[in-house]
Amino acid sequence: MYPILSQEEKEEREDSTKDSLPTVSSSAILTPKILDIRHYGDPVLRDHARPIKEINDEARQLAADMIVTMVSGNGVGLAVNQVGQLKRLIVLDIGRGPMVLINPKISDKSRKREKLEEGCLSFPGLSVKVRRSYKINIEYFQLSDGKRIKLSVEGILARVILHEIDHLDGILLMDKLAFWRRGKFKKQLLAIKQQTRQEMRDREGSKKT
Ligand code: ZN
Repeated sequence: MYPILSQEEKEEREDSTKDSLPTVSSSAILTPKILDIRHYGDPVLRDHARPIKEINDEARQLAADMIVTMVSGNGVGLAVNQVGQLKRLIVLDIGRGPMVLINPKISDKSRKREKLEEGCLSFPGLSVKVRRSYKINIEYFQLSDGKRIKLSVEGILARVILHEIDHLDGILLMDKLAFWRRGKFKKQLLAIKQQTRQEMRDREGSKKT
């Protein structure tokens, strides 16, 4: 998911990211790299991500890669499906430093809801108004020590977490719209899908060579 950030906010966020990438304990961890973002039409976005059983170097590397990918795309959140993987992990940063949530679960949602504009890195150039709970209780495992964390969050942070957990369950921004409102985005969605098809062909091609 992405918000509209000012240049100043963006720079501030980039600085904070540099200091707080997940700590890594093994030399097997490489410098974080920017991953390809999967776009609407890629079947991996419809898959269900599966729980992570062990927090190992692979999970740490993935989290670090996802954080740099999110920041480089000017996003505030990124789910694992969006980089073509299926382990239940999301990363987010709403301007207070990056967070990594492993196996996140919503344990409660407020009845109070709010309708706000959302963008998604898998839907370039699109933003739609989505109604979501204002406050949620969440549970997840912490990357650094595997500790279970319970938190109550609200506002934009709750919204980003709800958006990203939807991704883990194969639910996309467009699914949140009433059927009659989806028609408005038909052309843009078709254009993204065509682009995605090309990206998938390119990826297949580069695998073979
Ligand atoms: Zn998204």
